[in-house]
Amino acid sequence: MNMFRGMLRVDMGIDLGTCNTLVAVRGQGIVLNEPSVVAVWKGTNKVLKNGEAVGWMAKEMLGKTPGTITAIRPLKDGVISDFDITEAMLKYFIKKVNGTNRLFRPRVVIGVPSGITAVEQQAVFQSAARAGAYRTYLIEEPVAAAIGAGLPFAEPTASAIVDIGGGTTEVAILSLGDMAVCESLRVAGDDMDEAIINHMKKTYNMMIGEQTSERIKIDIGSAAPTGEDKTLEVRGRDMISGLPRKTVITSEEIREALQEPVQAIAECVLRTLERAEPELAADLVDNGITLAGGGALLRGLPTVLQNKTGLDVKIADDPLTCVARGTAIYLEHIEEWKDFLRSDLEE
Ligand code: ADP
Ligand code: MG
Repeated sequence: MNMFRGMLRVDMGIDLGTCNTLVAVRGQGIVLNEPSVVAVWKGTNKVLKNGEAVGWMAKEMLGKTPGTITAIRPLKDGVISDFDITEAMLKYFIKKVNGTNRLFRPRVVIGVPSGITAVEQQAVFQSAARAGAYRTYLIEEPVAAAIGAGLPFAEPTASAIVDIGGGTTEVAILSLGDMAVCESLRVAGDDMDEAIINHMKKTYNMMIGEQTSERIKIDIGSAAPTGEDKTLEVRGRDMISGLPRKTVITSEEIREALQEPVQAIAECVLRTLERAEPELAADLVDNGITLAGGGALLRGLPTVLQNKTGLDVKIADDPLTCVARGTAIYLEHIEEWKDFLRSDLEE
């Protein structure tokens, strides 16, 4: 198979996430999974290493030369904060996957946050074209997540998807291939990490970094009691003495600390359900709610949402790859589902 790579047209599905970018190639599955991070010289938007300090490479460089280099997550809040940097990132990933294929330019389907503006959409089309795409389609992330989760998104029955990423939570009710109602909330995984940082400051006078805070969330965090509470030894810097120190924390206190972002997400789900037409709401009694994105893995979250809404809540298989797999499945049905998307042809 690999021997033909570089000779055939590559169809790529890209999940341009606020935390992670994934690329799925038709017929090969997921071929790239890297942080949506770009390293630039401090105070500029010049990407290091001739535009190649992107993804893992950017993350690796950061720990080593902290002074002059900064990390930028150009999609951090679900909006494109910097067009040039987003373009550099997209270019790098597309080229990395398309390799030395000069014969055929790739066709790409890009999953974008549902809240992005027309101007931002234009920027993505342009970046993809400059990165070598010969045709670009944009798919809203909740739609891609629903396809990836195997929901009957094109059928005349409603499905509800909640995609909890790093920067945004997208809640959508889909029917007949379209979003009947949706809301993009800027509260998601990053806010959970921040809540833990604040808790450590307030309770222990201890400063911890973002990576430590994310690890605490993943190791012992939960949204509701799960009957498997744990403790964890955490290292950080004492805010009074300025010296390194360690302390032991419990699942219970972290659960408490996470209540604010968790409740904000639950309220958003509730609001979206209340906006749905009665017929669609009725379908959800049977179809329930499906969770996708990394945030779906927070222990006890389905319980919280179930209690809040009274509906069944389940986690999609492999929630972190749902959007990327959805874009790839979309590619397989592109003729049949073309009407559901915007393409650069219409520009
Ligand atoms: P995006 O689509 O915005 O790039 P992802 O779907 O890749 O985001 O999810 C990333 C978020 O999921 C991060 O905030 C990360 O900390 C969180 N996450 C990943 N694994 C877990 C886990 N096991 N428990 C809780 N949160 C998790
Ligand atoms: Mg995502």
